[in-house]
Amino acid sequence: MFLSRVIYKEVRGVPRTAVAKEFIKRGSAVCSIKNGKVSKERGRFTIQVDKDKHIEGPGTFFHSCDPNCYWDFEGLSLIAKRDINAGEPITFNYCTTEYMLVNNFTCKCGAPNCFGEVKGFKYLTPEQRKGIEPLLSPYMNRILYEKV
Ligand SMILES: [Zn+2]
Repeated sequence: MFLSRVIYKEVRGVPRTAVAKEFIKRGSAVCSIKNGKVSKERGRFTIQVDKDKHIEGPGTFFHSCDPNCYWDFEGLSLIAKRDINAGEPITFNYCTTEYMLVNNFTCKCGAPNCFGEVKGFKYLTPEQRKGIEPLLSPYMNRILYEKV
């Protein structure tokens, strides 16, 4: 079962967007994709956990270059990076998990370090890659050090 600290509803025209159901304290688990469907293909709603391993999430998590969550890849859970208020959309940095995106988009998160055009880890500059290093998935981390 997915953890139920989020609800899924339409936000800014995007259906099934994950939103905090309650106040979530920094450091606590928000949502798990442990039981999500595993696929070799990336999709619009999948989370990349290894080279050819993508897990279907229970809904849409918004991207932010300064997100309120990050992935714990051992537990396959989103962890709150800071306190999250009830009603806030759940966000993570897509480039920490996705080598390439199915759909590129222009980010308007407003963070000082905003990537602008978000296309996936592959397209980040070395500085941008270093900047998100602590939050990278094990697979992206391997790519960062060219061990793949
Ligand atoms: Zn951004």
